[in-house]
Amino acid sequence: MPPRKLAAGNWKMNGTLASLAEVETLMHDCAGAGVDILICPPATLLRLMAERVSAGAVAVGGQDCHAKESGAHTGDISAEQLRDAGASYVIVGHSERRADHGETDAAVAAKAVAAHRAGISSVICVGETEAQRDANETLDVIARQLAGSVPDCATAANTVIAYEPVWAIGTGRTPTNDQIAEVHAAMREALVARFADGAKFRLLYGGSVKPANAAEIFAIAHVDGALVGGASLKAADFTPIVRALD
Ligand code: PGA
Repeated sequence: MPPRKLAAGNWKMNGTLASLAEVETLMHDCAGAGVDILICPPATLLRLMAERVSAGAVAVGGQDCHAKESGAHTGDISAEQLRDAGASYVIVGHSERRADHGETDAAVAAKAVAAHRAGISSVICVGETEAQRDANETLDVIARQLAGSVPDCATAANTVIAYEPVWAIGTGRTPTNDQIAEVHAAMREALVARFADGAKFRLLYGGSVKPANAAEIFAIAHVDGALVGGASLKAADFTPIVRALD
């Protein structure tokens, strides 16, 4: 059986209390969809959003976590705290965190381990920069990031991989279908080689997914869903993406 599809929204540093109405609209408009739906709001909204989503219909996740369970780490949030607030997923290693906070593959792997320790799933992000793609390094970069960022304790049940070319995030540009297919096939191969259940890991594509291009991207082999930034903020944009996956 192919993995169950996942439509994941990453709100990044967007959203206030008023935005919670969007998730209610989303739940209403996506009722009955046969795919998993995840929204990762800013930490300030996580608990309230978790309270508003009906059990099972929409999952809520964090956008990052610290590797430790608790302690003197001002401003950070642990995976256990995310879970306590109602999260069942956490994004780790997003390229914005790698760039803004200097997160290495080892740091990302430690965060994924923390998520699994806390009993929540990790969404581990990988992706090449434009310079790396131009230099024909894409597959090497992805292989290196997968090897370094995905911990040995990863399973298809606790880990989702998101391929997000850095140059496609928030730019309106996307790779060609062939380029996405090439990377997803390589990721699948690497996971199958390393993990007994590597064929079952969900592989998301992320980077300028919109209602207009979603169906085409979802038709590509080994694309099991999407990680969506800008187009996840409004239910009117995210619903057609969820429906395209359904
Ligand atoms: P975007 O962001 O959909 O706005 O390009 C994707 C992401 O960063 O997860």
